[in-house]
Amino acid sequence: MTKRRAIYAGSFDPLTNGHVDILERGADLFDELILAVANNRNKKPTFSAAERVALSKASLEHLKNVSVCSFEGLLIDFAREQGVKVLLRGLRAVSDFEYEFQLATMNRNLAKAEVETMFLMTGETHFYLSSRLVREVASWGGDISSMVPKPVFEALVAKFEDKYKV
Ligand code: ADP
Repeated sequence: MTKRRAIYAGSFDPLTNGHVDILERGADLFDELILAVANNRNKKPTFSAAERVALSKASLEHLKNVSVCSFEGLLIDFAREQGVKVLLRGLRAVSDFEYEFQLATMNRNLAKAEVETMFLMTGETHFYLSSRLVREVASWGGDISSMVPKPVFEALVAKFEDKYKV
């Protein structure tokens, strides 16, 4: 039987518990799930692509069928290279819908309908979580311990060390 494989792509700058929730649920639905960290040279991320890959790997050791890598360029080209036909995305709120709908339609067009996007609704305890807000709270020394996996928490505290000093 052919394996059901999917890609969960994003910036993951950094990985939050909202992403982990989507990954844990996705790992149950697919035989193999690839977390693909986008390496966009036009953006200035808080963590480099290599750091985001390392932090995601360290945070997802419990998910044996999830692998982590980075990619550059069009997601659809990466999906083709990997021979994957499903893109997994998470939806937090109505506000996510418009962008995600556009992106899914664009990708479907680019891939000539060979690739489909599938959505999982956010877990009810994670709907308010975004990498951007977590970064912002951390940059002011706020308590983010319940929002991100332990390796990410430690990396954020190290990054904004001066704010976490008491
Ligand atoms: P991007 O930089 O492309 O917005 P992200 O790394 O923030 O990507 O997120 C990747 C995917 O995870 C997107 O589909 C996004 O909607 C989803 N996502 C992000 N945070 C959450 C959350 N708290 N709950 C569910 N899905 C989420």
